[in-house]
Amino acid sequence: MKNCKFTGKTTKGFCSKSVRNAYIKKYGSIPLGFVIHHICRNPKCVNHMHLVAMPPSEHIRVHRLYNAYHDHLTQLYEERARKELDSILNS
Ligand SMILES: [Zn+2]
Ligand SMILES: [Zn+2]
Repeated sequence: MKNCKFTGKTTKGFCSKSVRNAYIKKYGSIPLGFVIHHICRNPKCVNHMHLVAMPPSEHIRVHRLYNAYHDHLTQLYEERARKELDSILNS
């Protein structure tokens, strides 16, 4: 996926502070208890276009699906990827 952004700091895990801050800066807030998923699969990326907030249980589910749909979702990119994820999660 293109246009990944990184901070200078080394971060660990999917829910690093800088990633959460990047999401909050763009979207206002993260729902309580939600985690940030990277549609670009790059845990250190802080490009808000690549970030989707979701409950931890859904996150696990998406990652299972994501492995199967990775190439497909990567091609959809950005908003189309978000809509696709929504439809998968709501089905
Ligand atoms: Zn990215
Ligand atoms: Zn994730």
